Parts: sequence; C-alpha cells; structure tokens
Amino acid sequence: VIQIGLPEHSVVTTCAYCGVGCSFKAEMRGEELVRMVPYKDGKANRGHSCVKGRFALGYATHKDRILKPMIRATYKDEWREVSWDEALGFAASKIKEIQAKYGRGSVGAISSSRCTNEEVYLVQKLVRAGFGNNNIDTCARVCHSPTGYGLSTAFGTSAGTQDFDSVENSDVILVIGANPTDGHPVFASRMKKRLREGAKLIVIDPRRIDLVRTPHVEAEYHLPLTPGTNVAMMTALAHVIVTEGLMAEEFIRDRCDWEAFQDWATFVSDESRSPEAVAKITGVDPDLVRKAARLYATGGNGAIYYGLGVTEHSQGSTTVMAIANLAMVTGNIGRRGVGVNPLRGQNNVQGACDMGSFPHEFTGYRHVSRDDVRETFESLWKVKIDNEPGLRIPNMFDAAVDGTFKGLYVQGEDILQSDPDTKHVSAGLDALELLIVQDLFLNETANYANVFLPGSSFLEKDGTFTNAERRINRVRKVMSPKSGYADWEITQRLAQEIGMDMNYSHPSEIMDEISKVTPTFANVSYALLEKEGSVQWPCNEEHPEGTPTMHIGEFMRGKGNFVVTEYVATDERTGPRFPLLLTTGRILSQYNVGAQTRRTDNVVWHDQDLLEIHPHDAEMRGVRDGDWVKLDSRAGSTSLRAKLTDRVAVGVVYTTFHHPMTQVNVITTDFSDWATNCPEYKVTAVQISPSNGP
Ligand code: SF4
Repeated sequence: VIQIGLPEHSVVTTCAYCGVGCSFKAEMRGEELVRMVPYKDGKANRGHSCVKGRFALGYATHKDRILKPMIRATYKDEWREVSWDEALGFAASKIKEIQAKYGRGSVGAISSSRCTNEEVYLVQKLVRAGFGNNNIDTCARVCHSPTGYGLSTAFGTSAGTQDFDSVENSDVILVIGANPTDGHPVFASRMKKRLREGAKLIVIDPRRIDLVRTPHVEAEYHLPLTPGTNVAMMTALAHVIVTEGLMAEEFIRDRCDWEAFQDWATFVSDESRSPEAVAKITGVDPDLVRKAARLYATGGNGAIYYGLGVTEHSQGSTTVMAIANLAMVTGNIGRRGVGVNPLRGQNNVQGACDMGSFPHEFTGYRHVSRDDVRETFESLWKVKIDNEPGLRIPNMFDAAVDGTFKGLYVQGEDILQSDPDTKHVSAGLDALELLIVQDLFLNETANYANVFLPGSSFLEKDGTFTNAERRINRVRKVMSPKSGYADWEITQRLAQEIGMDMNYSHPSEIMDEISKVTPTFANVSYALLEKEGSVQWPCNEEHPEGTPTMHIGEFMRGKGNFVVTEYVATDERTGPRFPLLLTTGRILSQYNVGAQTRRTDNVVWHDQDLLEIHPHDAEMRGVRDGDWVKLDSRAGSTSLRAKLTDRVAVGVVYTTFHHPMTQVNVITTDFSDWATNCPEYKVTAVQISPSNGP
C-alpha cells in the first residue's frame, strides 16, 4: 500500500480525516506515495500527527476503488461501464427530463465535507444557478448544523472563536460532549500539555472519557450526566454563576444586549434551575455542579470545547446557545485562552458550511432572502436565484417518498449508512428516478444509484480545506486523478452538460470567485496561501493573514445575544421494555463509517465495534465480557460483542459506529434538533439480551 524506498520529491498537503487539519509532506517516488511526514511548519499541528493522517492512506490505492464511470437504467439493473461523456450526458439528460416533468424543485444535491472548499462551492453553484433552486445541503446537517444555528444566533457567525494556540493561555478547560483523545488527537495532545502545566479540567460527559484520567492529567470535576440532559446541566451551571454573583458585569454591560441578558438572568435564577432541582434530571451530584461552575467562572481564562455530544440531540442548537450564554456571562470571549470552540469532525466540515452549502445560506452564512446578497450572485452568475430556502436532507427523503423530489446528486457521502432512520432513507432513495453518486467506492448509497461517477482522493487534487480553527489550508495534488478527473472537474463537466457556462481551468480561479463574493474570505487567494502558509478567516485588507481570535471588542453581530434556553426532555424515553440509554462515539484508529480507514492497515487496531456496558447491568442480564448481545430499540435491532467497563454509568451503554456490520443507525430514532433537523444520534433507549451473534 505505502511503498518503502527513497523518495524523489515531496509535496506539502493537508490531512483529509479530521477537523484538526494537520499538514504533511507527502514524500513521493514518481506517482507512488512513499510516506507521509508530519510537516513541522504546519500551523495546526507543528510537526505532530496521529495514526490516521500518517498511516491510513491505503484506501487511496485500494482495489475496491471504482475508476470508470458507470450507468444503469434503474438501480435494479446491472451496472455498465461507460465513457465520461456518456455518463455525464446520461445524468444531464435525466436531470432535464425530471425538471421538465416535475418542476425545477424536483432535483437537488448533497455536498461533502470530505471535499475541498472549491468543490463544495461548485456543487452549490450548480444547484442554485444550474438547477434553479436552493435544494443544496451538506453532511454537516447530521453533525454540526446546530453549531451554525446556535453560534450565529449568539455571536453572529458560525465558527469557533479561537485558534488552537489559544489553549496555551487557558486556565480552565471545559470539555462537553467531545472526546478529543480519539476524535481530535493532535489537538488533544496540546490540551493535555496545557493541563500538565497546571490548567484545570472540567469534563461533562455521560462516559468517563480518556481525558478524565490519563497519565499526568486528572479532571478536577467529571459531571457524568444522563444522555440528553445537556441543556439542564448548562442552565444549572449558569444558575450558580448568576445567583452567587460570579458574573463579568462590565463585559455584559459593554458587550452584550442588556435586555436579553436581564431576561436570561431572571430565567436561570429561578430555583427550579438550581443544581439541586436539576439533579433529578441530570443525575449529577449538585455539589459537583456548584464547584464546577465556580471554577469555570473564577479560575481565570475559561475555554469551552465541545463536539457531537452537544449537537446531535433534539436540543442541539439550544445547548450551543446555552454554552454561548455561559461564556458571555463570565466574559470568556474575545481574548486568548477563552472562547467557545466546536471541535469539528470532518476535515472540511467548517469549509463546507462556509461555502454556502446549506439550503438557506450563501457563502459566509448570509440568508438567501437577503436581496443585496442575492443580487451579488445574480449579477456574477447571470441568473435569477430563489429567495426561499430549499430542502434539507431529511426533507429531500420526505419529498422523495411523497413523489415530488425525483433526482439527487450526492458528492462523496454515504447517506444510507451515515444518516438516521435507515428505513426512511432507503425508501426515499428507492423512490428517486435519478441518483448520481460521486465517490471513491461503491458505497451503500450507490446500491440505489443509476449513475456512478468515480471521485478522487485528496492526494489527487488541488484545493483548500478549512479546519476547526477557521484555518484555510492548501491541499496540493500529489498524484494524477486515478479516474482521470478531480471532483471539481467532474462537477464542472456535469454543469457544462446541463448547459451552464462554467470554465475554471484551476481551483485557484474558483477561490478567486469565492473571495470576490464572500466578505469573510476577502483577499484570500492561492498566492496569499503560498506566502502565509495558511490563513484564518475572517480575512480582509487590514488583516490579510486573518483572525486567530474572533469577537475582540465587538461581536460579529454587534451585541452578544443571551438566549433563554428552556430544557425540554427528548421524546426518546426509557421504560420497562427499553431501560438503558445508548450513546455513541469514535475510536482513534478509525474514522466515521470507516469507508476509508477500514481499507487501510489501521483495521488491525479495531476490527469491530463493541458495546460498552457497566458490569452491574451486564450481570443482571447474564452477559459476560466478550459475549455477543442483541441490542434492541423501538426502531430496530443489531448485534455486537459486549465489553464490560465502568467507563459508562449504570443504565448507559456506548458503542462506536465504524463498521457497517454494527448498523447503529438501524436502531437510532428519527428525533432531531428542533432548529436544524440534526439527528439525535446520541440518545436511544435500548434493551440488551444475550445472543449467538449476527
Ligand atoms: Fe489527520 Fe486529524 Fe490525525 Fe491530524 S489529528 S493527522 S488532521 S486525523
């Protein structure tokens, strides 16, 4: 897979796994990748890496890769290898046929956080300018869309407030719903270094993650709350800070909306939101909550880091706003060492969101109903653009089942495996007349496709990824595209086939256009990236190198916005039939549904997902360590092996979701975030019983 031998040349590029965005030198011999060497001048990683970025590259040359375009009349027919011209001509004629028969809004697309900014930008341009609607969504819908809603509402833009270096100035680090050691390993190392230097740690998580107790690091407080009760917990912390007078009054008066603050302060001060009252909901000792609140409010620079354990809930957006409230009430915004920092999952989830791939927003998070913004794009693209938001991913499946949505173009995402309520997704895909899948592999979604366009790995293209600290990193072509085209070229060719005038000769020209139409990307160009190495948006003429810390002096929206965050219990309830709560997460060596990492040598470290269960719960059910167990929920069932551990509390079980055999999404519910439809992956009521295996 990775050849051993002396390299002849090297190319600096960016890891395509997680949102840390580590830089690597890809050392090459001709077109063969010899090894990946962490790049010491990479600003996100400073010469460090993890086992994915360094070793999990075998998928790029794996025998499963499809290198020729394929079409078939329906998904029930046999695939037929065809030329690029025939595949793209077939796809374009079907799009036109469907729109002529069912209307402009009957087709749409889903862009990928695995692809570059330039590629995502082209897909949304294809939809808005070519398809003539706003039916564009991105896989961020199922992970960080509540971050978009929550941080925009509170601060005025959807992004982490700090750079990674900022952690070196933190005195108190609060981690909620994230497991940096496994999910963001290189940043976790920097966090641990700061903790070893004396910073204090608070962990809010149902599971005792590695950070709680690891060599030379021990959390001051671990609050092991019941899954689904984040809002109640954050409000209880705020209650202590407000009622004990631990607020940053000057900051609140100068920087925040005073009326909104007063309403919120009245709300959180109510006795029903005290740690003692809320303990019935969260299951956490009120004394621990009080101590944690005091530490965060008075311990110096307080920084909050969070992950999908915050967003993938029916109150995901509410929790993000509750986190923002906590940072504002303590004045922990707008300087180094503080802030609110979503740990983005995929390599370019920040970028995919920045690039206008939500159905309601153009690049830079500007709503499609804004006339001034629409006019910018209309005059550049010479088309009329809808002022109504398009369909979100779950609504696309609803509309497909209803018969009003007929054609879908999916760029680099296995929606059947990664989206919730698998039965509904497959019913939606089954009802389509056209499904175009552009991917490296024939994934589960491709089983329903009638056009397959072979995509390119990150090693085969030029472009940029934007990491979790808003850093725009260059991705550089290391080898030629194995299927003949990079993903941006495939989208461009499809656009040309449907009659669009799209003729970029290099991704740098796409970035020039992005920069022209997006204020936060002003002046960003490949020339600037060559000079600076990387930049952090927002960039402008005054700060061409970008902005490491946001909201200094003033929030992007003007005054910081306190939002009343009422706790509403999820509709997913435990009961006699399903008495346990399942929550999910990742492991270091694997990545998401494993499409890439399972096709690398990393699989030797983790070849199956395991169900963590407390020994007490296991004993009650006659389950021993290593036994197969059947996991049942109201939605479905699956089987996996049990791992007995007290990392999880009594009443809670936990698994990873990297292997298709596990099919965790068969058992998750169809509940979702009230504001963004982000699925509630993190709370499922289940029962387990001994089994003989799948
Ligand atoms: Fe890649 Fe993330 Fe590992 Fe860095 S920490 S090497 S970006 S997977």
